[in-house]
Amino acid sequence: MATKHDWTKEEILEIYNKPLMELLYEAATIHRQHHDPNTVQVSTLLSIKTGGCPEDCGYCPQAARYHTDLEGNDLMSVNQVKAQALRAKAAGSSRVCMGAAWRNVKDGDEFDDVLEMVRTINKLEMEVCCTLGMLTENQAQRLAEAGLYAYNHNLDTSEDYYKEVISTRGFDDRLKTIDNVRKTNVTVCSGGIIGMGESAEDRAGMLVALSTLNPQPESVPINALVPVEGTPMEEQEPVSIWEMVRMVATARIVMPETQVRLSAGRTQMSREGQAMCFFAGANSIFAGDKLLTTPNPDINEDMEMFKALGLNPQKAFEKKEQPKSIDAEHSQFQNLGEKPKWSRPGHKIERNLQAQEKRKTKA
Ligand code: SF4
Repeated sequence: MATKHDWTKEEILEIYNKPLMELLYEAATIHRQHHDPNTVQVSTLLSIKTGGCPEDCGYCPQAARYHTDLEGNDLMSVNQVKAQALRAKAAGSSRVCMGAAWRNVKDGDEFDDVLEMVRTINKLEMEVCCTLGMLTENQAQRLAEAGLYAYNHNLDTSEDYYKEVISTRGFDDRLKTIDNVRKTNVTVCSGGIIGMGESAEDRAGMLVALSTLNPQPESVPINALVPVEGTPMEEQEPVSIWEMVRMVATARIVMPETQVRLSAGRTQMSREGQAMCFFAGANSIFAGDKLLTTPNPDINEDMEMFKALGLNPQKAFEKKEQPKSIDAEHSQFQNLGEKPKWSRPGHKIERNLQAQEKRKTKA
């Protein structure tokens, strides 16, 4: 059956609110039609540049304007990244996702270093993903040429609720970046977070935005908010496992080919809860004891869980062939020194402003 790209919020809400057993059965059936249910892709997330971010994302401890205990660091070196990638590979990861706390990519030495990191990891026969903020078409092309396998750029939430979470970057620019990535052969990874105070309608709205992209993202991370002290969302109640299972199952049904990833918030979930998410169609996880800055289960614990559930880690390039890495001296694309004007909506978000004020009093 051809993939449906015209999902409406009402249709998605109807799926999300089905009796749970019916929802699970439907999602598991679709999952089996499109994927091997015993294979789960394992990615390692590496924060190559931590903290000091100029944005005001209400969930994020890396935003410089909030007071968190986060220790920041400048961009890692290519050798440091290579060593971490080798460790991740030995532990069973097929993909390394490198995250930098930037608003957008800037042409220059640091981006050149990131391109070298991409070439290095691709040559280790691992899938390489980056999450570096907003991106122009030329920058996306340069990453593709270096051998990037995936680019992550989350929509975070529905377009409506986005205005309650972030005021420094616009939803349309997120879509524009995804579109720039789509002009290359790099796959798209885009998802969001639940538990930020949004309604079920907003969750459905986010899934509308993702599922109506054509093609749909190859990978969709579903995060449960990990509230961090000092951030505007520090007091948010954790989401229940049922909400997580519903979200995963609904994502699976509306995006049958996509790899649905259980991302942040896994430490708060029991093994039984995670098993239910795998049954509902999750077929990817982040491994490693940290997810950028928040805690994550240890890789050994994950491998024990895989053993108990009879799951196998997916091999690298099983879904799509390995891209070629073109060395810097043979590049067809230049550093254009672009300075694009990404939008800055600048509306007031009360809880973000309050968290910012608190920082000033603490300073
Ligand atoms: S989510 Fe990304 S863009 Fe937003 S504050 Fe954190 S690091 Fe910056």
